[in-house]
Amino acid sequence: MAPVDPHSFTESTQPATTDIALTLYFDFPSSTIHASALFTLQTPHSGPFFLDTRSLTIHSALHADEAIPFSLSTTSDPIKGTLLTLTLSNHSSFILTFSTSPSSSALQWLLPPQTCNKTHPYVYTQCQAIHARSIFPSHDTPARRIRYSAILNIPSELSAVMAANHVTRRPPRDDDAASLASLNLNWCSQDRVVEEFVMEQPVPPYLFAFAVGQLGNREVGPRTRVYAEEGSAVLDSAAKEFEGTEEMIREGEKLFGEYDWERFDLLVLPPSFPYGGMENPKMVFLTPTVIKGDGSGAQVVAHELAHSWTGNLITNKTNEHFWLNEGFTTYAERRIVEAVQGEKRATLNVGIGWRGLNEEIERFKDNLEFTKLKNNQQGIDPDDVYSQVPYEKGFQFLFRIERQVGRSAFDEFLKKYIAKFKFQSIDTDTFLDFLKENIPGIEKQIDLVLWTEGTGIPSDAYEPELIVYKTIVSLANEAATGRMPGEDEVADWQGQEWELYLDNLPKSIEASQIVALDSRHKLSESKDYEVKVSFLQRAISCGCKEYYGEVEKTLKAVGRMKYLRPLYTALVKGSEEDKVFAKRVFSEARECYHPIAQSVVVSIFSKHM
Ligand SMILES: [Zn+2]
Repeated sequence: MAPVDPHSFTESTQPATTDIALTLYFDFPSSTIHASALFTLQTPHSGPFFLDTRSLTIHSALHADEAIPFSLSTTSDPIKGTLLTLTLSNHSSFILTFSTSPSSSALQWLLPPQTCNKTHPYVYTQCQAIHARSIFPSHDTPARRIRYSAILNIPSELSAVMAANHVTRRPPRDDDAASLASLNLNWCSQDRVVEEFVMEQPVPPYLFAFAVGQLGNREVGPRTRVYAEEGSAVLDSAAKEFEGTEEMIREGEKLFGEYDWERFDLLVLPPSFPYGGMENPKMVFLTPTVIKGDGSGAQVVAHELAHSWTGNLITNKTNEHFWLNEGFTTYAERRIVEAVQGEKRATLNVGIGWRGLNEEIERFKDNLEFTKLKNNQQGIDPDDVYSQVPYEKGFQFLFRIERQVGRSAFDEFLKKYIAKFKFQSIDTDTFLDFLKENIPGIEKQIDLVLWTEGTGIPSDAYEPELIVYKTIVSLANEAATGRMPGEDEVADWQGQEWELYLDNLPKSIEASQIVALDSRHKLSESKDYEVKVSFLQRAISCGCKEYYGEVEKTLKAVGRMKYLRPLYTALVKGSEEDKVFAKRVFSEARECYHPIAQSVVVSIFSKHM
């Protein structure tokens, strides 16, 4: 017996699940889902059969009304969760009934006051990296792919979306819920409705996704609708921000080949959503902070779109090869941005990434393993080592290959790579073998082992050379001598230029300069959270107490980890007073964060306090 993934109990000797048919009853007052799942296995199996679970209560395991013995392990692994073992006797299918817990790590249940409209409750998922197991028992590893269908029973004033095809919305029927009969649910009550979905393409479980709330939508393209809370201002501004989506899909197709998922819809979530975006197939999830009014939010959409090929079609086998998802996607994102918004925007994007990569290498200086593209995550929680390394070092590696072989040869290679491995989960060695086979001699031109297994940043990585980038970086460096940019120099700056400037300010900058910069350019009040947070992070490091009110407001307004991480980290690295402040704000804001974000903040605290 051998586990296929350090983050899962899945055994290589046991058959894969090919299909799961889910029936889900949403009980908002108790923040619980009562559910059943019909599993279909690839081959019949006898003996122990392992599934991943976390904080689930298992009520029964059945095959044609006959009970199947099962047990949950008495101790839980802090990372993998609780092992569910079924004892099968030549079974190729079975039905489990179970309930989630209010503390399910994938789910955030929002009370009406925590939503934009403040009138209806809301629940949404975030399953990456290893949280699908807190919604349903599964082989929760990207090494295994499943098809699924789902029947969602929800309050009739709400609607549901999924990263799947919508089949119908209809009144509930008794026969929907035969497998849930023992739970005595109000399945067919007047105030309930059923929404049905089906996902016909096999996907890794981390791409399982739904949201239930008072949702509305706007059509923005032939295969794209934008969803957000009905009647909220977000819906209109999102429709405007993302009106260029179809053009990006066509660019993606030029680069990678046909778009295989039919729909590319976008769901803008409440501000507590922990990521910038999540590439859930057919229905990308987005934070409202990407709506900036200047079209730059489209870059996050370009990233999630690129995942339709790299990540969703070709998937990393385990999180130890996460760069195969994120490095390729970051590379593709920048190619799409370059085609749609021009070289300048793409270069600024590379420059911000370059700075971010250097900071991450610094962050991991005592744990260099996580500066490697291919790394060892035995006993490691993937959420704890989430960083820009797989994104930016992965991008650098692929861009290094592009520079070596030329763009058209690399484009041809990319198309071949997608066609060869689509709907498969692969590891770094599989990619390298394919690379060497298709670009003979590449290993003599680029040190592939150093790039994939070495720590830090190889010396043949690329810092942008474009003049727009260099001008901003040298302006930032001049702050060491006290010089601040003049009005004329920043007149046409957008968020990215400011972000790049702030990220490159020297560490030695003084509090008085920070204050002067803000009184001239109002960065602490920027509506662009990238700029605002980058500024506030600097303000905290310089001990500018006058901005702590704004820091608190920000930490309470959004739950995106990209902002929580730097702000809380800057605070806990500061004075005793800063630490007390951080703890108080977290205790007051905590409920507004998704469980994944909550545990990331807890882990920042435990590392530094
Ligand atoms: Zn990504």
